[in-house]
Amino acid sequence: MSQVVNSAKEMQRQCLALQRAGNRIGLIPTMGALHEGHLSLVRRAKAECDVAVATIFVNPAQFAPTEDFSKYPRSIDADLGLLDSVDCDFTFVPSADEIYPPGFSTYLAPPAVAQPLEGVFRPDHFRGVCTVVLKLFNLAPADVACFGQKDYQQALVVRHMVRDLNLPLAIEVCPTVREADGLALSSRNRYLSEGERRQALALSQALAEASDLYRSGGRNSRVLAERMQAVDAETLQELDTIDRSAVALIACYVGTTRLIDNMILS
Ligand code: AMP
Repeated sequence: MSQVVNSAKEMQRQCLALQRAGNRIGLIPTMGALHEGHLSLVRRAKAECDVAVATIFVNPAQFAPTEDFSKYPRSIDADLGLLDSVDCDFTFVPSADEIYPPGFSTYLAPPAVAQPLEGVFRPDHFRGVCTVVLKLFNLAPADVACFGQKDYQQALVVRHMVRDLNLPLAIEVCPTVREADGLALSSRNRYLSEGERRQALALSQALAEASDLYRSGGRNSRVLAERMQAVDAETLQELDTIDRSAVALIACYVGTTRLIDNMILS
């Protein structure tokens, strides 16, 4: 059974004791409403470490006032069952007050790779992500932290933060888990009606087309579908000609639900 920890102090004490006893800890930060994508990260952490620690926290600091914080899906009982099924050792489920106690006022300025793409559309998003991820790294000190390629820019932002601040852990980026028809698993897929679920296939299909085009020699990123951008895979700078490691990214609304997906072109 995954041991549930609500207290920040207690989580920190447990992780430090485990590390002192020689255990390698793998951390999996999530916002809950778990699916197979999240579980793949737990499996990776279990494969590489002695102890897997998942965190479930819907982080208010990464949502704009106009976004879906209050209606973000919450399914803690089902989540804990899923974490048990993959032998996750600990689940840290702090309250908002535990993470942002009264008087909290220190926020992290995100690295430069946070500026384009999602950074343009969601200006304070990565400030909230970096702040909470750094706090989680302090509260659940780990040797490895696992993130999904599904949130490509987020993983890159975290990598840069870890490098720039000399944080003593490794970041692993795990492949995007998809439905059989190609739709990337996402907690927000729960918002979709049946019709929207069908429309949402457009994201992975557009990416697959871009990938096919690339593989058949296409290098002009303008030829890619509208709203999809091909950027340098490291710097996220836009590319006209795909002459280096590149990633195609897409973000779009399906009904009122904003979904993102990406595919590495190589
Ligand atoms: P979230 O709960 O959506 O904030 O995601 C928590 C972690 O799971 C992040 O590192 C995500 O990139 C990762 N993740 C979300 N969806 C997927 C997916 N379909 N495949 C792999 N990882 C994912």
